[in-house]
Amino acid sequence: MVHLTLFEKLWNAHVVADLGEGAALLYIDRIFLHERTGSIALKGLVEKKRVIRHPESVFCTIDHIVDTLPGRTDDTLVEGGKAFIQTTRASARAAGITFYDIGDARQGIVHVISPEQAIVLPGLTLVCPDSHTCTQGAFGALAWGVGSTEVEHAMSTNTLRVKKPKTMGVSFNGTLMAGVTAKDMILHLIAAYTAAGASGYAVEFYGDAVADLTMEARMTLCNMAVEFGAFTGIIAPDDKVIDYIKGRPYAPKGENWQRALEYWQNLKSDKKALFDKKITIEASAIKPMITWGTNPGQAIAIDGQVPFPAQIRDDHQRAAAEKALAYMDIAPGTYLTELTIGGAFIGSCTNSRLPDLRKAGKILKGRKVAKGVRAICVPGSSQIKRQAEAEGLDKIFIEAGFEWRESGCSMCFYAGGESFGFEERVVTSTNRNFESRQGPRTRSHLASPETVAVSAIMGRIASLSDLNEEVGNGTL
Ligand code: SF4
Repeated sequence: MVHLTLFEKLWNAHVVADLGEGAALLYIDRIFLHERTGSIALKGLVEKKRVIRHPESVFCTIDHIVDTLPGRTDDTLVEGGKAFIQTTRASARAAGITFYDIGDARQGIVHVISPEQAIVLPGLTLVCPDSHTCTQGAFGALAWGVGSTEVEHAMSTNTLRVKKPKTMGVSFNGTLMAGVTAKDMILHLIAAYTAAGASGYAVEFYGDAVADLTMEARMTLCNMAVEFGAFTGIIAPDDKVIDYIKGRPYAPKGENWQRALEYWQNLKSDKKALFDKKITIEASAIKPMITWGTNPGQAIAIDGQVPFPAQIRDDHQRAAAEKALAYMDIAPGTYLTELTIGGAFIGSCTNSRLPDLRKAGKILKGRKVAKGVRAICVPGSSQIKRQAEAEGLDKIFIEAGFEWRESGCSMCFYAGGESFGFEERVVTSTNRNFESRQGPRTRSHLASPETVAVSAIMGRIASLSDLNEEVGNGTL
């Protein structure tokens, strides 16, 4: 008997043809577009006189370029953004695909709304011209980012040529300490094994600490699989997945629901299945993490010192550390908690879901953002924004001094037009700390929403335990 990993089961179920040399033509169940890359792909189809094979399998949202300021329209801060939005709208309507426009109650960041609508389901293949499509692997789907030419091919044929990656199993054993989150788990992993640690692999996350995570936290974990260099990240579906999906708009109904449940039961790695590579991490050893450099692997525990490049043996890593510290304007050996900040951002497809906002709101309630800090919260979807407002979270954020925005990618991504100031130091719940990612030469420190909220209040990089020390009673 052949023992298979979850990835191999998902792969095998979608092979249309073996193309040799480790590649296959895979069937693609669902395709998601956004206005930045999706508009190019839709235009490309029209120019080549191709049609979409199954328009009902294609979805599109407006998230990357659209402004997130209240009262927004098609006008954007970024030059030419309006044309992207309007071209996407016209092309999506002409193509007959499902389109989540500005003002639609279901609009939001692609990787947030796809699960909200249950467009992603266990066992499906889903592609999107966006790197963080791996977020949706949290549902036991094979979901990965592709280029605009590939997505054109997927739309016209519902297939794609894919080179099969190797398999990696990452087990988080045991229980997380209080105050440690999925964001800290993934930053810990990438810091330990580098941002290229999973290059060429599809990663399956499992273990007690993964099983204990909420669906939203599992999405955070899988979201950053691509920052680990992985083809995608996946987690086997369990009762939490089923509870999350049940009753959502695109969830199977009636008899199909029962058939789906039976099928999903087998979507897990066989006990004797072998991964090409395995990593085991003791969850209780993970501390709240934050990045100090310009890639997500340049991260440390928040109470730690940034490295001394001279002590790094690997030439490439040492050069990268020197360059990153110079860019970030941080001296070797600095404790990050000594650094004052100018910006705080809670948002993005990594950490902008309701539990993220609730946790940050709990910290912000009755407190004020420090003078000189520009703090912004951008809910991941219009639905999350409404739910948060129904709970009064918007008032907590606003009273604390945060801007409360409409849903979209916003300051995750400077190319969308919204940005922090020149060389601003920002603590952010996003997934990329690359040079100028959040504005001109911005210095981004990736962390959990809790760390962002505490840092905003204290005006410097700080963790929950710093705040508790200051409050003196450990109330948080
Ligand atoms: S929130 Fe950021 S990482 Fe996520 S899809 Fe938008 S731009 Fe990409």
